[in-house]
Amino acid sequence: TSESISDLLDRLSKIVPDYPQPGISFKDLTPVFADPVGLRRMVDELIAPFEGQFDIVAGLEARGFVLAAAAAYASGKGMLTIRKAGKLPREVYRDEYTLEYGTSCLEVHKDEIAPGTRVLILDDVLATGGTVGSSVRLIEKTGAVVAGVGVVLELDGLDGRGKLEGHRVHSLQVVH
Ligand code: AMP
Repeated sequence: TSESISDLLDRLSKIVPDYPQPGISFKDLTPVFADPVGLRRMVDELIAPFEGQFDIVAGLEARGFVLAAAAAYASGKGMLTIRKAGKLPREVYRDEYTLEYGTSCLEVHKDEIAPGTRVLILDDVLATGGTVGSSVRLIEKTGAVVAGVGVVLELDGLDGRGKLEGHRVHSLQVVH
């Protein structure tokens, strides 16, 4: 069949109003992860524009791990694990960033990628861009290079892209 990726995402993803707090329209991609065609289409379409341009795939805890592990495997690469603070056992680089309320912190092992390595960053949803922006800084701290950013959904009106200026951002669908 020739269902577009946008139609597929509309058919399989779920929108949960007022979760986790009033006013937030939560985009739940877990049913797409659970669908054999959905998972494959998402992963294939996330990596296609970057083919031949990356050496490793970085996943952001936790939903980005699902996409990054599958994408790394499908493209014959390894996966870089970017985690919330305090989870990685060895020496890390750390980046603190501002959320709507308070701050958060991401970490990556210092010795996991060599300088110059081209890193493709994947996550499920690009909202304000705070999380992906933090990952970009972390990767650059290691001396590696961001090859691009792939997200399944991009929320419009939050200017996530604006925080990622100078980087190639590929989203499968833009939603409100
Ligand atoms: P950001 O504001 O871009 O840093 O997004 C923060 C994190 O929360 C990202 O990893 C997204 O996956 C997730 N997120 C933000 N807004 C939503 C939403 N409306 N639905 C689902 N996930 C979201």
